[in-house]
Amino acid sequence: MRDADPQPVRLTDYRPPDWLVDTVDLDVRLHPQATRVVVRLGMRPNPLGRPGAPIVLDGDELELKSVALDGAPLAGAGYAATPSSLTILAPPQDPLVLTIETVLDPSANTKLMGLYCSSGTYCTQCEAEGFRRITYFPDRPDVLAVYTTRIEAECEEAPVLLGNGNKVDSGDVEGTTRHFAVWHDPWPKPCYLFALVGGKLDRITEPFVTATGKEVELGIYVEPGKAGRAGYAMDALKRSMRWDEEVFGCEYDLDVFNIVAVADFNMGAMENKGLNVFNDKYVLASPETATDADYANIEAIIAHEYFHNWTGNRITCRDWFQLCLKEGLTVFRDQEFSSDQRSRPVKRIADVRLLKSHQFAEDAGPLAHPVRPATYREINNFYTATVYEKGAEVVRMLKTLLSEEGFRAGMDLYFDRHDGQAATVEEFLTCFADANGADLSQFALWYAQSGTPQVEVNGHWDAAARSYRLDVRQTQVPTPGQPDKQPMLIPLALGLVGADGRDLPLVPHDGTNAAGSVLVVSRPEQSFVFRDVEARPVPSINRGFSAPVKLTTNLASEDLLFLARHDTDPFNRFEAGQTLALAHLVSASGLAPEKTSAGPPSGGGTALVEALIEALGASLEDETLDPAFIAQVLSVPSEGDIAREIGSEVDPDAIHAARRSLRRALGEALRPGLERAYGRHAPDGAYSPDAVSAGRRALRNAALELMASTGEAADIARALAHFETADNMTDRFFALSVLAHHAPAERDAALDAFYQRFRDDPLVIDKWLALQAQIAEPETLERVRELTRHPAFSMGNPNRVRALIGNFAAANQTQFHRPDGAGHLFVADAVLELDRRNPQVAARLLGAFKSWRSLEPTRRGSAERALRRIADGPGLSPDVSDIVARSLG
Ligand SMILES: [Zn+2]
Repeated sequence: MRDADPQPVRLTDYRPPDWLVDTVDLDVRLHPQATRVVVRLGMRPNPLGRPGAPIVLDGDELELKSVALDGAPLAGAGYAATPSSLTILAPPQDPLVLTIETVLDPSANTKLMGLYCSSGTYCTQCEAEGFRRITYFPDRPDVLAVYTTRIEAECEEAPVLLGNGNKVDSGDVEGTTRHFAVWHDPWPKPCYLFALVGGKLDRITEPFVTATGKEVELGIYVEPGKAGRAGYAMDALKRSMRWDEEVFGCEYDLDVFNIVAVADFNMGAMENKGLNVFNDKYVLASPETATDADYANIEAIIAHEYFHNWTGNRITCRDWFQLCLKEGLTVFRDQEFSSDQRSRPVKRIADVRLLKSHQFAEDAGPLAHPVRPATYREINNFYTATVYEKGAEVVRMLKTLLSEEGFRAGMDLYFDRHDGQAATVEEFLTCFADANGADLSQFALWYAQSGTPQVEVNGHWDAAARSYRLDVRQTQVPTPGQPDKQPMLIPLALGLVGADGRDLPLVPHDGTNAAGSVLVVSRPEQSFVFRDVEARPVPSINRGFSAPVKLTTNLASEDLLFLARHDTDPFNRFEAGQTLALAHLVSASGLAPEKTSAGPPSGGGTALVEALIEALGASLEDETLDPAFIAQVLSVPSEGDIAREIGSEVDPDAIHAARRSLRRALGEALRPGLERAYGRHAPDGAYSPDAVSAGRRALRNAALELMASTGEAADIARALAHFETADNMTDRFFALSVLAHHAPAERDAALDAFYQRFRDDPLVIDKWLALQAQIAEPETLERVRELTRHPAFSMGNPNRVRALIGNFAAANQTQFHRPDGAGHLFVADAVLELDRRNPQVAARLLGAFKSWRSLEPTRRGSAERALRRIADGPGLSPDVSDIVARSLG
């Protein structure tokens, strides 16, 4: 076992490895309980390391059988071995071959890190530190080696044997019932990209010809009988490969590219070189079983993992502090891919909503950390929204600041300069600075300072001078470990919208127009003046969400209403409506729940609601708008958004009631338009997952739900008919969700019908579990408790745990934060139970407490008791003890 209270690792302590590994030859003989691993490491002293250093290799729960140096067995005095390390005490300071034999029990590996069995399939997960659970190795990303892997197994048990790179040999093991395959990966890689798979799997294959005419065989492997559901993933893969050639000049570099879908997986997917391993949730899709959102996720994640082949694999990270170097950049790349494949404005809106709900919430609580952390205790806990989503925003800002061409020049230089290396954030930024002659030293603070910058912008029109002035003030709020911060470089995309809805030309007062329509804010306070402004414009600020900041302005509700109707920037057109809604919801949440739930908002809120109804009604009737965009416009800010806006003394019941009441008011006021939209977008043919068809379903379903939130019998009947006549999962599940939330009388029969229909399909049953966990009523906790005993549920499968307990904790604010503390206690006990089995999943679940300090005192007290109960738990994993300590810290 590893130390339960590991010492923090610090970025500033980095030093190069003492020994390098050039080649890794693995021989893995698969057996469910006793897999034998023999590794031959071709090593040499690192000229940059400490002279005369011993060889220190990492391990984790390993059982050593033998160790040999240059073919001669090493006596006990020559090395020191524990389950977590192997030290060769006085190695010759020359190139040498170290041979190590270990034995593993894949079927007992419930952590799903290293080599494990998933529903009869052997597979591996090595990022971040799983390879050390397979063999002793310098398990750090800056040790790059060429791998050759021989895999052997019973023919019957594992007819398919897959490894990294290209297959170079295979055959039967003579005189046995076993067979083998040898895979060779010519590209040096860190061990976290190692993978092997063995099992009974079906596959689909397709050829792909790269830009320079190289033929690649693409394969997707799935559980027997599920090949018919892999077609969309294959299509997405081919589109990703072509797109990366066209947009980034990145071509694939092996003869084969394989994807394997497994049922038990801690993460979404893993970019192992030439052998991506996926959570089957992000591969398998059919109209009957997958929603439009599932299809979009599959497309994005297939692309993401593929794009890592260059951003992550060919150029990897020097150390785990640089995780954003591969993740933030690759998220940016997959966002761009999806934007090109689908609607760019709708994709941007969806990405920003995710950023705010996950990353802004993280930034506002005790788990806040920089995009590149300076210290960590358990790296598994840094696969966060900050590293991924904010990391992507930082790359997006680079592109905004440097222009499309400047950005591409920087990327080209990065690929050119660092191919085959383990790089750092500084090296990445230097490529952009060098390619553009730019100074990015202040910009680099985005990687180092945590917290969401607050930006206040006030506009003033001077009629006499015919000028318009924007006063900008930025504030950096203190976050854990960072009490004082420096001002950031913030690109604010701007438009001044004239009375006719058109953008005015932006003429800076000094006559220059250096940065186009982007204000580059670099000081705590700064003013920008534009001349030749004949009439008062409405400023549209931070267009496209050009900077991930919390923006406040002196815009009046009439200005927001104007932008919601006329802004040519689709993101800000959406955002104007959201700002109006949020302003109302925050003030309505301050009222007692019984007042807001009884009817339409009263008092000062009425004008805001009327403005909102007018704005939404106009969008609903505007047939020039993309239906997917209108569906986003109709969405009311989430309970989490409202809680974050309120900031402290949060009462989730009051927020829920205010939101419910607003939706009812919208459903009533917009009913004619909603009915028309519902009718206009009725299906007109067989289901297709394309973005246009998905957008029509999104709008139709949004209309269905807003109408049903009135609770009128006719609206519930419409939802029930929608459920019963649906010919695809998107419509069926959306209607079920409407019934679950708005029709208590119809709910159980519909849930049961859904279960009976899909009971043999675990991925669909996850939706059924998740939905029940999200119902905002006091009976839900007991329902969730009972579902943990349902045959469809298993604590051993991460997808089931996330669906049921994860959704209860993260997507049911009123019941997780029950005032009696029972929700907190339930999740705390689940964390403790899970921690003994799978610490990574347990630590993720625990992250649901991240906003506990902003709750009102009763709930805050109960959350703290639950956290202390976890902290006092015996034998906590490093993963959970790290999160709980930071949450309480
Ligand atoms: Zn990734």
